[in-house]
Amino acid sequence: MISFAFTEEQKDFRLTLERFAHDTLLPGYRDRASSTDFPWDVQRRLASMGVLGIGLPEECGGSGAEDPILLGLATEALAEGDVNVASAPVQVGLVGSQLARGSETVRQEYLAPLIRGECTVAIALTEPGSGSDAAALRTIAEPAPNGWRITGEKTAISWAMNAGAALVYARAPGSTRSAGVSCFVVPLDAQGVSRARTLGMGCLPLGWGSIHLDGVLVSRDMLIGEEGAGFAGVMHHFDFSRPALGLLCLGAAKASLDEAVTFATEREAFGQPIFNYQGVSFQLAEHATYIEAALWLCYRALWLRATGQPHTAISSMSKWWPPIVAKDAIEAAMRIHGHLGYSAELPLQQRLRDVMAYLVADGSAEIQKRVIAADLVRGSKR
Ligand SMILES: Cc1cc2nc3c(=O)[nH]c(=O)nc-3n(C[C@H](O)[C@H](O)[C@H](O)COP(=O)(O)OP(=O)(O)OC[C@H]3O[C@@H](n4cnc5c(N)ncnc54)[C@H](O)[C@@H]3O)c2cc1C
Repeated sequence: MISFAFTEEQKDFRLTLERFAHDTLLPGYRDRASSTDFPWDVQRRLASMGVLGIGLPEECGGSGAEDPILLGLATEALAEGDVNVASAPVQVGLVGSQLARGSETVRQEYLAPLIRGECTVAIALTEPGSGSDAAALRTIAEPAPNGWRITGEKTAISWAMNAGAALVYARAPGSTRSAGVSCFVVPLDAQGVSRARTLGMGCLPLGWGSIHLDGVLVSRDMLIGEEGAGFAGVMHHFDFSRPALGLLCLGAAKASLDEAVTFATEREAFGQPIFNYQGVSFQLAEHATYIEAALWLCYRALWLRATGQPHTAISSMSKWWPPIVAKDAIEAAMRIHGHLGYSAELPLQQRLRDVMAYLVADGSAEIQKRVIAADLVRGSKR
């Protein structure tokens, strides 16, 4: 028998977060989104609700066993209120789960504060010369007494400006492509680190920017996983973040569609509510259909991950299509709101700008399709 049911615990948690999103987050979303200040007060609220510890070790304050489905539900629910706040559960599954594999020092100095909502940790892979082709990264980790000396530049990094540390991917001298890349926790107050903010068209509170590393010394206990296995490690975690980001976009789209339905049933033109015109209601019906299909694609990817089954290709499907579904739905909701939809008084324009980040962040649609196409060829040869 097939089941699309969530557990009672999952449903309760989602409901709690949906109420929080609508009652607490949504009223302040536009103000928060127009500032580059990171909302630490909201982050601590998320910590108190248990969001930041989902699937992280209990001894650091987390809930224990990995739980990608609950992280996905949390992301989707929070995005109904604030697209940027909703990136917190994605950070938990993408960054927190890597910190959990680190030394006791890493777990106590960065993971436990992350779970308490006192610290964020960035993930720094992209460089000025390598984005889609991440394996072309040039940042070097030279062996040094009791550790490494790291030199390079990371660019387009979310949380760069508010993080206490970053997971930095750097290669051994002389290595090429994915071989020889390791993952290091680099404290961002270390000597030789400097940061520069980049202003995006959205996602301002996430603190997007560049991290320059000029001979930064990191000790042995800052290595995550095996030396030289960092590239495979981060790709495994992208298989989580891709469907989670799909859900983030879809949460924002669902909220926009709900607002458009309410508006369309109240706004009158030519003597009746505009919802009565199929030109309006059919648009809503179509976007509702796409959102529903895209949601289940993402949850199926997370379910495969949770049950230990292959999910790389479906994770990429969950990353290229849902952000487009969401962008189109939000744009339709704006148009259905007429001139009001374009107004900065409504959250729609802000959602559109924030969601559009995920057309590129974590890998563009073209890169996801490369992953899917490679899987198709492998499948045809099996
Ligand atoms: C809001 C935001 C947040 C981000 N946060 C982070 C972060 O926290 N950490 C981090 O490390 N990075 C982050 N990034 C960077 C992101 O991962 C890269 O921007 C992305 O991987 C694309 O790399 P690029 O910008 O260098 O584009 P490029 O790789 O230069 O690509 C440019 C264009 O060419 C296309 N293209 C490239 N190769 C191919 C190909 N083989 N076939 C077809 N088309 C191709 C791409 O799809 C794209 O449209 C973030 C980006 C954004 C926008």
